[in-house]
Amino acid sequence: MSVDFDVIVLGGGANGTGVARDCAMRGLRVLLLEKADFGVGASGNSSGMIHGGIRYMLSDRHVTALACLDSGYIQRIAPHLLFRIPFLMPFASRKEGASLYERAVWYATEVYVGTYDLYQPLKRGKPSARLSAEELYALEPGLRSGLAGAVTLDEWGIDAFRLCTLNALDAAARGADVRTWTEARELLRDLGRVRGVRYRDVLTGEEGEARAPVVFNATGAWSPALARRNGAKVPMRPGKGVHLTLDRRFSNYGVICTAVDGRQMFLMPHERESIVGTTDDDYYGDPDDLEATNDEIEYLLEGASSLVPRVRNARITRAWCGLRTTLYEYGPNEDALSREHQIHDATGDGLAGLLSFVGGKLASYRAQAEEATDRIMDLLGRPRGACRTHLEPLPGGDEVPDPEILAREWPVAAPVASRLVYRHGSRAREVLQLIKDDQRLALVLCRDEGILAAEVVFCARQEKVRRLQDLRRRCRVGLGACAGVDCARISAQLAGRELGWGADRIRAELADLLDQGWRERRAILDGAQLAQEELVRGATGFLEVPW
Ligand SMILES: Cc1cc2nc3c(=O)[nH]c(=O)nc-3n(C[C@H](O)[C@H](O)[C@H](O)COP(=O)(O)OP(=O)(O)OC[C@H]3O[C@@H](n4cnc5c(N)ncnc54)[C@H](O)[C@@H]3O)c2cc1C
Repeated sequence: MSVDFDVIVLGGGANGTGVARDCAMRGLRVLLLEKADFGVGASGNSSGMIHGGIRYMLSDRHVTALACLDSGYIQRIAPHLLFRIPFLMPFASRKEGASLYERAVWYATEVYVGTYDLYQPLKRGKPSARLSAEELYALEPGLRSGLAGAVTLDEWGIDAFRLCTLNALDAAARGADVRTWTEARELLRDLGRVRGVRYRDVLTGEEGEARAPVVFNATGAWSPALARRNGAKVPMRPGKGVHLTLDRRFSNYGVICTAVDGRQMFLMPHERESIVGTTDDDYYGDPDDLEATNDEIEYLLEGASSLVPRVRNARITRAWCGLRTTLYEYGPNEDALSREHQIHDATGDGLAGLLSFVGGKLASYRAQAEEATDRIMDLLGRPRGACRTHLEPLPGGDEVPDPEILAREWPVAAPVASRLVYRHGSRAREVLQLIKDDQRLALVLCRDEGILAAEVVFCARQEKVRRLQDLRRRCRVGLGACAGVDCARISAQLAGRELGWGADRIRAELADLLDQGWRERRAILDGAQLAQEELVRGATGFLEVPW
């Protein structure tokens, strides 16, 4: 039987794109299929922490160690895409004569954080510090009164949508066939082996078959159903996690709060906004029907406002969620489940050649992909060769240009140049080059997110954009606090011009983009916000654009 590829990778999250990149770098012929767009699953809806996961240190020390090590590598290959985010872990009360128990908890926490410090050099993290109450309130005056002090934790965040995109683009640059909006419908099999995949392009309706001796299933929370439809089993305990985006900064640092049930959660500043996260609940529904509910939102607000009371006055701009693909275990509470990962081989189910990925962390995605690629090489009977994904930069990761210099050289303000460098690294210069040919591309489409018209054109041309909503994930079109009032329509026009869309398609894409935002706001709207929603809908329909 002829084969078209050595391996077919299903799923364009961090794991799928990471595996596709590693396989392409090791010389394999790779097909990557993603049924929507890069990062739409857990990856893009995670908290985006490239951390060690201090929480896992007691039960899964290996998870913490691996994530810290990989965080260091991810910083090396995509230095532009990471930002430092120091966290404060406050202590409740320590009045004169505080109870022995309170003192013991404080002491134990300090020892615990001190142990985490041993891993910090792996990820260029700073050692923890102990803050007195005075120091804590000087840094975070918005915290509720009565706190006794805090310890600090140094962590890193990332734009996970772009991390997935850059891995996929690099895989494509190294010869992989990368297709978004293309769903794997069925596995082809013969004589107890997987032989390939039947797929469907969900935008054109075109169907086809691709053949390969190995299929790597990295479809996240969709994996068990995909495997089941094809007679295999992927044990998993999916957990739903909800985040809120608030319209402004409520803290200067990340702060770790305690939810009403004692779980740890956080409030952190993100650019001009704040993010509150996260819930962790078993989820038995369809992964495609995932939406936040009112009670989840209330749970998060209650936890965050118990530490930062002003959070109660926030305007919530988005409530977004993803599914953790946690390893199956019967018994423990959701957030006590292991964050270890496993690669299931379906040979026992009569599907030799099918590997499925479960569990793990975004922060360890590169190491997980390396392990997966080793397994794929073994199955193919090829020498593993050397993995180089920790050495070779992702696109734009070779250099981080100085935004101040770019702002002097080009007609863009320094904060806009800074956002451009954050998203594109050295490729920011390629984006700015577009302004040479068309001065109008220097227009800032969204003041919140600092999106340039040139960036929209660049992404449409260079970053496998097929739908307007893909631009949410490439350059945050429609994700700012104004929900697309400034940027949605003009981006639709620009993308339409680049991708050859007619007026009807542009309208349909715009409606779809706004609908995405609506789905993330539906559960948070009250009386005043409903009126604002009407305003957004109206305003996005009537903006004048220069194209
Ligand atoms: C709320 C939350 C917070 C988290 N926070 C963190 C954190 O801060 N740090 C950290 O390290 N980890 C975090 N994680 C865990 C991390 O996000 C996951 O480990 C990781 O993103 C999983 O990536 P993945 O590629 O396996 O799955 P996904 O990102 O879910 O990707 C699966 C992809 O498969 C596609 N797909 C599905 N079916 C098909 C099909 N039939 N054909 C083609 N494509 C298909 C989907 O569209 C999807 O894009 C968090 C997870 C959640 C849910």
